[in-house]
Amino acid sequence: MNKDLARLVELDRGRCLVAHIGALLGWDQETCLPSAGIEERSEQLALVQTLEHEKATSPEIGDLLTRLGSTTENPLGAAALGTTERAYLRVARREYDKATKLPGELVAELARATSLSQSAWAEARRRSDFAAFAPHLSKMVELSRRVASCLGPERRPYDVLLDLYEPGSTEDSVAAVFSSLRADLGILLDKIRGRPQVDDAALHRSCPAVRQAELSSWLMDVLGYDRSRGRLDTTAHPFTTTLGRDDVRITTRYIENYFPSSLFSTIHETGHALYELGIDPDPAFARTRLSEAASMAVHESQSRLWENLVGRSLGFWKLKYERLVSLTGGCLEGVRLDDFFRGVNKVEPSLIRTEADEVTYALHVILRFELEGRLIAGTLAVKDLPEAWNAKMKELLGLAPPDDARGCLQDIHWSMGSFGYFPSYALGNLYASQFWAAMKASIPSIEQEIEAGNHAAVLAWLREQVHTPGAAYLPGELVERATGSALDARHFVAYLNGKYAAVYGF
Ligand code: ZN
Repeated sequence: MNKDLARLVELDRGRCLVAHIGALLGWDQETCLPSAGIEERSEQLALVQTLEHEKATSPEIGDLLTRLGSTTENPLGAAALGTTERAYLRVARREYDKATKLPGELVAELARATSLSQSAWAEARRRSDFAAFAPHLSKMVELSRRVASCLGPERRPYDVLLDLYEPGSTEDSVAAVFSSLRADLGILLDKIRGRPQVDDAALHRSCPAVRQAELSSWLMDVLGYDRSRGRLDTTAHPFTTTLGRDDVRITTRYIENYFPSSLFSTIHETGHALYELGIDPDPAFARTRLSEAASMAVHESQSRLWENLVGRSLGFWKLKYERLVSLTGGCLEGVRLDDFFRGVNKVEPSLIRTEADEVTYALHVILRFELEGRLIAGTLAVKDLPEAWNAKMKELLGLAPPDDARGCLQDIHWSMGSFGYFPSYALGNLYASQFWAAMKASIPSIEQEIEAGNHAAVLAWLREQVHTPGAAYLPGELVERATGSALDARHFVAYLNGKYAAVYGF
C-alpha cells in the first residue's frame, strides 16, 4: 500500500478505536450503569466524543486525501489506485468533509440547542403540549438548514440532509419510490379491511421474562449469531452496538403479556448484528470507514429481512413450533401454528409508528417524509405542524390522533434535528424485499432451506451480496450489484400481497 494511504488508514484506525470506546461507555450506560453514575458518565462521553471529533478532523487527513487525489468533486482520487483503495477514499473524503465543513460555533450551538430541545420535547410529549415544544422545533429546523447550507450550499437543503443517512438519494428519488408505494399499500389495506380481523388474544397471555430470555437465546443460536463475538442484554429500547470488529452486542426487552415483542425484536437486532459481523471488504481496511455499513437503510434492510421475511413466515416455524410452544411454557397451549402465524402478522392501522405492522408502517414514514421536507423547504410553518399532521394521518391511515402526544410529538427524531432520517426506515423494508427476491431467484429452494432450519444458506447469500463490501458501494450501487436493478417498491408490494393473501384469505 502506498505510504500516504497507509498513514491515512493508521489515522482512521485511531479514530475508530476512540469511537468504539465511546460505544462501550454508551452500551454500559444503557445496560448496567448505576443511576448515580450518570453525571460522570456524561463527562466521560463528552471527552471521548471531543477526542473522536479531533481525530476525525485532523488537518493531516485533509492533506493526505488531497495528495491521494481525493477532492470533494472527485472523491475517488487518483485513477492509478486500486478499486478498493478508491472506494475507501470516497468514503473517507465524504466523512472528512462532513466533519470539517461545519464551523465550530455551529457545532457548539447545535449541541446546546439539541440538548434543550430534547428535554423540552420529552416534557411537551408528556403533557401533550405542542406549543411548549414549537420554539425548539423552529430552532432545530433553522439549525438544520444552516447545516445543509454549509455541507452543500448549491443543493436543496433537504437533499443534503437526506444524504447524511442515505448517501446518493434525493428528495425527488425518494418521493418517486414512495408515491407508487403509497397507492399500492392503499389498495392492499382496502382488501384487508374487507376481511374478518385476525384474533391474536392468545399471544397476550402472560410469559415470564426468564422464559422469554431463553427464547431469545435460542433464536440467536438458530440464526447463526456467533456468541463469542457478541451478547444479549436488556434495555428499555432494544438496539445493536458495535464495540469492536469482534464485539457486536444486541439488547432486547421483555413485555410479560406480549412475548412476540421480545421474540421479534431479538430477531431484528440479530439481523443488525449479523450485518456488522459480516463486514469485511479487505483486511487492509479493517477498522476503517470502509468497514462500516453502507447506510442506515441498508442496515435496516438486514434487520427487517430476518425479522419479517424470515421470522414472520410460516415456513420458518414449521419445525420449530413445538420447541417454541414448550419454551413459552403453556402460553401457546391450544394455539395452532397457523393461528400463531396469523396473529404475529395482524394488520391494524394505528397512531404510533413504532407499534405499526408491516403494511401500515411505511405510511407512517411517508407522512413524516412529506412533512419534514416541507418544514425544511419552509413551505410548512412549525406552528401549523399539528394540523398538517392530523390531516395526513386521516388521509393515509384514516385515523384522527386524540392529542399531539399520539400525533406529531410521538418521535424523538425532529427534536434532535434528525431531518432526513425517517425515510431510511421504509427504504429498509424495500431493500429487504428486493434482496429477498434476488436471493430466491438465485437459490430457488431457499424457502425449503429455511423450513429445514438451514438458515446458513440465507446468511451466506447476504454475506456475499450485502455484508462483505461494507461501505465500498453507495446504497444504490449495492442494490444494483446484488439484484441487477435499481430500488423498486414493487418487490415489497408483491411480497406483502403474497403474505397477506395467506393471512387474511383473499
Ligand atoms: Zn433496526
